[in-house]
Amino acid sequence: MNRPVTQNEITAARPLTGRVSLITGSTSGIGLGIAKALAAAGSAIVFNGFGKAEEISATQAVLSAECNVKVEYSGADMSSPDSIAEMIDMTIAEFGRLDVLVNNAGIQFVAPLQEFPVVKWDAILAINLSSAFHTTRLALPRMVENKWGRIVNVASAHGLVASPFKAAYVAAKHGVLGLTKVTALETAEQGITCNAICPGYVYTPLVEAQIDGQAKAHHIPREQVIRDILLAQQPNKRFATVEELGALTVFLASEAASSITGVALPVDGGWTAH
Ligand code: NAD
Repeated sequence: MNRPVTQNEITAARPLTGRVSLITGSTSGIGLGIAKALAAAGSAIVFNGFGKAEEISATQAVLSAECNVKVEYSGADMSSPDSIAEMIDMTIAEFGRLDVLVNNAGIQFVAPLQEFPVVKWDAILAINLSSAFHTTRLALPRMVENKWGRIVNVASAHGLVASPFKAAYVAAKHGVLGLTKVTALETAEQGITCNAICPGYVYTPLVEAQIDGQAKAHHIPREQVIRDILLAQQPNKRFATVEELGALTVFLASEAASSITGVALPVDGGWTAH
């Protein structure tokens, strides 16, 4: 077949052409994977998070060149409501719209409840939960105006079940699922969906830090931490990938997912089927 590709074929291959997506915590790991997938599907991107200036510039250049979409960066701190408001304002000023909001920024800290540092509790609740409340309340007016919007909250299997020593993380992620359901109910008639994805273990810098920490704490090799601790609960015995989560987010942002709202979708190799 030697004929020019039609506009319909291009739109089908890039179903998010014309959309603008904001992904919090997307300089690394799952957020970066989701940003890449949304850009590859044709969406303009605002990515966010911390990191070295030269790495952030490189990510911006590569994303925009490889996917042929406009890419902006916001260094907003997700623990600061003012900083979040500036990020949303910048997005609207730059693109005039915000169609897909992915609340992904998150941190972890592991300690027994009685020794859990109060500052860590406050930081985890602010970044992993309250930031999603702030982005959502500030993004909704534009989505309502456009009668179209997609909100994807990156929760965790720890939004559905608990593990010891993760009090703040488990509480925040359970909270994200509650916020997801309320957002879905309040927006259901406005062409907006809000869903949570609940990954089990995904190999990212956040997990890498836990592997090292557990290996030192238990005096065991990394391989044993991965097999006997991290993946002990994950029946398929493999990490989920950022590409799998990116593809799922693109699907949830697509027209095909218009009737899916308020769900918490595990991507955990069967963990929460126990
Ligand atoms: P990661 O450490 O690789 O990435 C975290 C991102 O958040 C980075 O871009 C970082 O710069 C950003 N970030 C951290 N604090 C921030 C702040 N105050 N303001 C703005 N950005 C900030 O982690 P990850 O594993 O990719 O995790 C991403 C999300 O996925 C988190 O919400 C995490 O809870 C969730 N999750 C991860 C796993 C896993 O196994 N990796 C499993 C389930 C859920």
